[in-house]
Amino acid sequence: MSNNSAGISITVLLPAGRLPLDIMKTAQELANEYNFGIYLSLTQNLRLINVPENIASHVREQLATLGAEFKALGLFPLPRICIGKPHCNLGLIDTEQLSNKITARFNSPKKVKGRFKIAISGCPAGCTSPRNCDIAIMATRSGYSVYAGGKGGLIPRVGRRIKVRITEEEVLDTIAVLVDFHDRKTKVKQRIFQILADPEFPFVEV
Ligand code: SF4
Repeated sequence: MSNNSAGISITVLLPAGRLPLDIMKTAQELANEYNFGIYLSLTQNLRLINVPENIASHVREQLATLGAEFKALGLFPLPRICIGKPHCNLGLIDTEQLSNKITARFNSPKKVKGRFKIAISGCPAGCTSPRNCDIAIMATRSGYSVYAGGKGGLIPRVGRRIKVRITEEEVLDTIAVLVDFHDRKTKVKQRIFQILADPEFPFVEV
């Protein structure tokens, strides 16, 4: 939740970019009733914008009863994913299933130090711009590649490839090592690229 002049924003988390129909319906009804807007965020979440502050708790409660979870500091990031298999002809993997596996493994305990992002692409075409993301997983015909330390912004960076031709389980283990290292080396928050030069960084470029 964040302040702006016309009201506040409430971001509903949408794992794997999926929007449950009951949440969509209730969000639309609330938006109609209280005259606020809905924005689909670049991180594939549902952001309610210009929500009058005096009804924000009511909106959150209504959506929470449907199982909605909300963006908050310290939550493990939901992966940004492409549509993948079977919805894309080029898709090599089911990106929703991999995203859900990552979320299930790392959402407990939920607290992590910010602020890194994760992207998954279902083939080397990279529709999620994975190489510009802190942690990127790319499916290839010979297994998964993992990249670390990419970013967008004013000074974009391409991530360093740290794993190639690995299995899904190895992808999860790689993320675990990265997140643990990031946690140990981070006081409050920092992007993954800021720890790439650390002499103890646990992966070499491949
Ligand atoms: S990255 Fe590949 S699988 Fe994913 S949407 Fe793009 S072309 Fe399809």
